[in-house]
Amino acid sequence: MINAGTKLCGVIGDPVKHTLSPVMHNRAIAELGIDYAYLAFNVKTSNLGASIEGMRALGIRGLNVTIPHKVAVVQFLDELDPLARDIGAVNTIVNDEGKLKGYNTDAAGFLQSLDAAGFEPMGKKVVLLGAGGAARAMGFALAQAGSLITILNRKPTLPQAVILSNNLERTCGSKVTVMELNATNLKTVMAEAELLVNATSAGMEPAVDETAVPTDLLKPGITVFDVVYTPYETRLLKEAAARGCQVISGLEMLVSQAALALELWTGMQAPLGVMREAAISAVYPGTGGTSVKTPEIEKTEKTNVALVGFMGAGKTAVGKALARKMGKPFADLDALVEKKAGKSVARIFKEDGEPVFRKLEKASTTDIACKSGRVIACGGGVPLDPANITALKQSSVVVYLKTSNTEIIKRVSSGPVRPLLADGKDITTLIAARTPFYEQSADITIDTTRITIECVAEKIIERLGKYESFRF
Ligand code: NAP
Repeated sequence: MINAGTKLCGVIGDPVKHTLSPVMHNRAIAELGIDYAYLAFNVKTSNLGASIEGMRALGIRGLNVTIPHKVAVVQFLDELDPLARDIGAVNTIVNDEGKLKGYNTDAAGFLQSLDAAGFEPMGKKVVLLGAGGAARAMGFALAQAGSLITILNRKPTLPQAVILSNNLERTCGSKVTVMELNATNLKTVMAEAELLVNATSAGMEPAVDETAVPTDLLKPGITVFDVVYTPYETRLLKEAAARGCQVISGLEMLVSQAALALELWTGMQAPLGVMREAAISAVYPGTGGTSVKTPEIEKTEKTNVALVGFMGAGKTAVGKALARKMGKPFADLDALVEKKAGKSVARIFKEDGEPVFRKLEKASTTDIACKSGRVIACGGGVPLDPANITALKQSSVVVYLKTSNTEIIKRVSSGPVRPLLADGKDITTLIAARTPFYEQSADITIDTTRITIECVAEKIIERLGKYESFRF
């Protein structure tokens, strides 16, 4: 219930009619049960300074800043977070008792959405279209992640792209190429591209027939990210999917950047899954936020889903949720080992040692891999033995549940002592040693760090949609 103590947040932009931010934030506010409200304000450029003074005068706790104000708003703020200063654009303002500090959560939100799709930007050739507020943040994120970037921008605003490339070279030390956005240059750069990032507003509602890249330049197999999120599938993404590209909607970035902004205003962990569902439901009314399918289809006979990842990644909890949602039986490899041995994993480790456990684990992996139609939660050490992965891959799509080190340590330290850590092994060293095995074995990678179990399960179902045997 809104009352005299309610803290107000909102978004300023022009236009803001299309924005999904109020839907996401108000659902998150309800989920967290906090006394906040979130509104959208249409602010003309001529009123930008006055609107920021209004924020200060009215004690508005936080604002998101969207098109076309992200760069211009900087001059009206008291302080900038170092990342926002380097990027030169602000998408989030925090009002601490009249002191306005600008942040940029677009960069981290963008990287999270690439990561969730399993795209590793390090060393990849990236074509970045546009040099506005979003492009600045995304260019910065890509440069910091070690991508090889070419920026293309329209002729009249080419100097803006040169400024951006100079900034990236100065702040990140990366070499960035700049070109005019035209058919000839596009053809040249798209021949080499591994990731295409549309950071322009081309294709945004109502101009849904617009696209900045001709279809025939979209090479099968590359990843195409469109920052535009209304519609969810822009013309660019539809055409890219039809050409066999991996596509990522700007909605994924929108949700991540919004969650990070909410955390800055409230100091609480944002319910990412709820926010994503709210955004998708708003774009596709009636879907319940879960029915967006990956369009390219891969033929496979596999009918099992095998979950791998470090301890604490949520393999068992997610596996159970996934099995329930997919109507498949659930199998826990550790439980199968315990059944074989007639004692608990902890007792096997203590009484017989790790080598005996690994032998039992291998036998159980072979057994379960012969079955079909199951959701399998694998022990954290399963992918370390290539024979296990070979056996699993014959019948299973392998899903890596990726989780940040901090989150793993938090989750693992709150439960009972894990057998593998009982002799004081260093968890960070163990994570570093195992991560390459998880990455190499994965057909699908899902970042579970900040999302609910239900949402991880839904994301897996969404990604399984690209396999023929998992389509419903
Ligand atoms: P901006 O600062 O106004 O920049 C817009 C950029 O798009 C400029 O480089 C502009 O080039 C270019 N552009 C516009 N129409 C074009 C067209 N038809 N062909 C080629 N280039 C075109 O806006 P922004 O803040 O960067 O936002 C850009 C888009 O990203 C918007 O649709 C916004 O809603 C979306 N966005 C999404 C997220 C997300 O989380 N998914 C976050 C931020 C923004 P000129 O300078 O030559 O006009």
